[in-house]
Amino acid sequence: MNPILQLARPDILSLQPYQHAAWEPSLERMHANEMPWRANGDSTAAGLNRYPEPQPAELIEHLAALYGVAPEQVLAGRGSDEGIDLLVRAFCRAGQDSVLICPPTFGMYKVSARIQGAGVVEVPLVKEHNFALDADAVLAAWREDIKIVFVCSPNNPTGGLADHAAIERLCERLANRALVVVDEAYIEFARTDSLVAWLGRFPNLVVLRTLSKAYALAGARCGALLAHPDIVSLLARVITPYSLPTQTIESVLRFTDATHRADAQQRIDTLLRERDRLAEQLPQNPLVRRVWPSDANFLLVECVDADRVLRAAAAVGLIIRDPRSQLSLENCLRISVGSPEQNERLIQGIRRASGAAA
Ligand code: PMP
Repeated sequence: MNPILQLARPDILSLQPYQHAAWEPSLERMHANEMPWRANGDSTAAGLNRYPEPQPAELIEHLAALYGVAPEQVLAGRGSDEGIDLLVRAFCRAGQDSVLICPPTFGMYKVSARIQGAGVVEVPLVKEHNFALDADAVLAAWREDIKIVFVCSPNNPTGGLADHAAIERLCERLANRALVVVDEAYIEFARTDSLVAWLGRFPNLVVLRTLSKAYALAGARCGALLAHPDIVSLLARVITPYSLPTQTIESVLRFTDATHRADAQQRIDTLLRERDRLAEQLPQNPLVRRVWPSDANFLLVECVDADRVLRAAAAVGLIIRDPRSQLSLENCLRISVGSPEQNERLIQGIRRASGAAA
């Protein structure tokens, strides 16, 4: 058994999971209290009158091939958000255990921990070094109640990748002590490899991937938690029985086939060109102080007057994110790279607001 399971909540380890209706596709279903007929116009392949297959084998094999891991290393859920929630619920005892996060970072790590009643220990990223992960500070802050260390790479909202050597050190030094969860929601926009290749080396490593970004499927709600098979089995006991809707399963299989993967790569290439263009043009505006380097599909922009930039964006019909309440992000805004037309509209809108000739 993976020794990291000793960190899981004892009541989850001993939990008798819900016994969902047996999945026996060769037999006609009279065991799940479903209707025998479809709703008029139901065009799904499986039929929405039927409960979907839990952790559907075809989808799991497909995701395993997509991410280059074994099917036993995959748990599919409703976005990475569900993966984060499951990890916190399975590993953190309310009022006793904690997670460690490196702000400014994605908000759900903290929210999931708070909902579970777990503590949150914060070790800030180093702003002076482009918001670098401070592995020494993380290790110095680690205490026995910290069960999960969340590392977001590329990080939302700062955009940078975490140094791989720093993550490697965390995995090594926290072996048998904490899960190291690397959230790679934006990795397809970075010119680097995913850390999934390390799963065999580090039984305490969990990698979160999502279909929401590079594959343009945010509305389908599907993410993959990739980890040692023992971690996947444990979390499969906690996830709701029929967590993935039929439409999600069918959409993901369809929109990540070979043709759609080639389309996705083209969209990514276009987006990266647009990211470079925005990163070059925005700092030429007097309302913008700097643009942080980004490995994601957004840019963190430090403004001279962020309110004016927000208003300028709204005036041309665009909404950008205001993350200024987060640590170290005074005067910063986060701009998701849009279509060439949207980006141009934003550049022109901010130019007009700065008083410069359009
Ligand atoms: N991780 C990060 C870093 C994110 O920015 C987001 C969404 N913005 C998520 C996870 C959640 O993504 P989803 O649930 O759509 O997979």
